Amino acid sequence: MSQIHHAALDQQQHQQQPGQYNQICTRSSSSSTPAAATEGTEPSSCPGQRNRIPRRKWQVFPGRNRFYCNGRIMMARQTGVFYLTLVLILLTSGLFFTFDCPFLASNLTPAIPVVGGVLFFFVMGMLFRASFSDPGVLPRATPDEAADLERQIDSSGCSRPPPRTREVLINGQTVKLKYCFTCKIFRPPRASHCSLCDNCVERFDHHCPWVGNCVGRRNYRFFYLFIVSLSFFTIFIFAFVITHVILRSNRTGFLSALKDSPVVVCFFSVWSIVGLSGFHTYLISSNQTTNEDIKGSWSTKRSKDNYNPYSYGNILTNCCAALCGPLPPSLIDRRGLIRSDTPQTTSQSNGTSGSSYASTQLHSHKVGGGPHHLWLCTPE
Ligand SMILES: [Zn+2]
Ligand SMILES: [Zn+2]
Repeated sequence: MSQIHHAALDQQQHQQQPGQYNQICTRSSSSSTPAAATEGTEPSSCPGQRNRIPRRKWQVFPGRNRFYCNGRIMMARQTGVFYLTLVLILLTSGLFFTFDCPFLASNLTPAIPVVGGVLFFFVMGMLFRASFSDPGVLPRATPDEAADLERQIDSSGCSRPPPRTREVLINGQTVKLKYCFTCKIFRPPRASHCSLCDNCVERFDHHCPWVGNCVGRRNYRFFYLFIVSLSFFTIFIFAFVITHVILRSNRTGFLSALKDSPVVVCFFSVWSIVGLSGFHTYLISSNQTTNEDIKGSWSTKRSKDNYNPYSYGNILTNCCAALCGPLPPSLIDRRGLIRSDTPQTTSQSNGTSGSSYASTQLHSHKVGGGPHHLWLCTPE
């Protein structure tokens, strides 16, 4: 038995079919170093595993996200539109502070650039908070959990195919929980799978390319404060640009005044941003998500006695719950170290083969029966 190393003992006891665990390092049986059998040590029999600094969970994260600063920053994979947002905000405010503020400060009051500066930093702070944080990603099931759930589904009825939804009662309203085939979990109420990030997100609102992240339970308030403060900021800029143009046109004429104030462009962005803020204010006051609003989940058109079970029945309480309630902790522990004895839900490449790995494991569990304790190599 000296050849059994980082593969678990019980794995050997079950009948193993050729190629069944092809994602698990199979070199273990050929090595005969007794030290490697010690729990907690890096499996030395896998090539490239020697003397490795322990890796963090974000490095093997199965979703399609990007991580920066050693996992502190988490964003969606496509970040192009986010940079466009940044450029638009920086360009507009840069033009305002360069061309309009000096004139306004000397002719009206120096408070204008000060208030503008405060608004600018608030907008940027909220944008970064919404863009760089975990929106509320739900961790995928481990192979053991997935196999267990699969068995429950199989044994829950004779119907074929087995039911992939469950029903729960929330405030008297029946809510369906759908099974996520990628994450191998029954999604909690209000969660949804973002196809772009390939994760289930708690209280999923929508995927926002402008902030380069999903908007969910953990970053919705920052997203909301971002669009609201951006509305105030664009209205502020627009109002003072008009003031500047009017004051100047008295001296130099309207057209040459326009030339000195190029931020009239902001006129077009004002309406879309204010409209979006209005829409999200309506959603917050009725405790709905964009996802539910688009689907019409709580619309009375669906059935007469359909209502939103999450609403507190009061606009003020709904707003307080959305903006001041406690923020739940991140569930994915993306900066946590990977322990060698932890069954990983993830595969080696970030986001490409996570689901196929999970399904392989699921299949092998069904064949082999009984929960295995899998000790995985995490190859490059
Ligand atoms: Zn999912
Ligand atoms: Zn997303």
